[in-house]
Amino acid sequence: MTNAGAGNRIDSNTLLFGVIGNPIRHSKSPIMMNRAFRETGINGVYAAFHVTSDRVGDFAAGVRAMGIRGVNVTIPHKLDIMSALDEIDPSAQAIGAVNTIVNDDGRLIGYNTDGIGYVRSLKEEAERELAGKRIVVIGAGGAARGIIFALANEMPDRITIANRSVERAKALADSLHGKVEIRAISMEGLQSACTEADIVINTTSVGMFPNTDETPIDASWLRPGAVASDLIYNPLKTRFLHEAEQRGCRIHGGLGMFIYQGAYAFEYWTGQPAPAAAMRETVLASLQG
Ligand code: NAP
Repeated sequence: MTNAGAGNRIDSNTLLFGVIGNPIRHSKSPIMMNRAFRETGINGVYAAFHVTSDRVGDFAAGVRAMGIRGVNVTIPHKLDIMSALDEIDPSAQAIGAVNTIVNDDGRLIGYNTDGIGYVRSLKEEAERELAGKRIVVIGAGGAARGIIFALANEMPDRITIANRSVERAKALADSLHGKVEIRAISMEGLQSACTEADIVINTTSVGMFPNTDETPIDASWLRPGAVASDLIYNPLKTRFLHEAEQRGCRIHGGLGMFIYQGAYAFEYWTGQPAPAAAMRETVLASLQG
């Protein structure tokens, strides 16, 4: 499969990869993954496919028919793709969403690399040891689900979920409760939970471009020295992170999660370590350009 130095040469042996979503033209995955193939000399090419919800089954059939080796899945197809696959990895099953498909000789296997990508980034960039930590997660949407599942595997002391719709936080806490204590609270309880937290993670879209003057919490609630983490990477440093930094917190942005969810997908498809630094460089240049 490798052809060091060949770059993205396209010939009769080129392996095909891609991402599906709706919309998809904003996606940074193609530039990131094609850089990874160039960097490792793998003869592969990665494209973006605009697929509507009524064509997800057709797409899966096309992947089998054409022998497309790997696919990433983004909004809104992470749930509806599952019924079109042959096998779902147990973690993706527990999370209830698939973002990566491996085509193993016509057998489509679904994985979820969002949560493990986030945790790898958090450990490499902000906090190496998550065991015993008190973690607060703001938000209970699709991204929160994956990261809470992965965080629970690190054996933190407890995970507290606060969400605008508290029922959604409760449902999430109940469905993932097991190895560690996971509790749901309303936004009213968030201040005191943040005060005693080691890590506070924003998984809501509050503060994302173009609403960059918004922030999910008052930074004075944070303990100096704690980690403030935001899943948003546009902007790279949200208002939440700016204010947390001024408060004396260690900050962690969402770019690493994006890079490492792609790095895990690359590793599942190719069996080789992903060139994460080069992937980051390419995405960063594109975001800043
Ligand atoms: P989602 O499923 O739509 O969930 C959105 C969450 O944000 C819900 O908990 C929602 O609360 C909350 N929310 C939205 N607007 C709010 C507001 N004005 N005030 C308080 N809470 C609000 O979205 P998602 O897929 O989980 O994505 C969430 C964020 O993560 C987005 O900013 C996305 O860009 C980011 N993300 C980043 C990566 C990465 O690779 N870095 C990957 C995935 C997602 P309710 O339940 O009450 O509606």
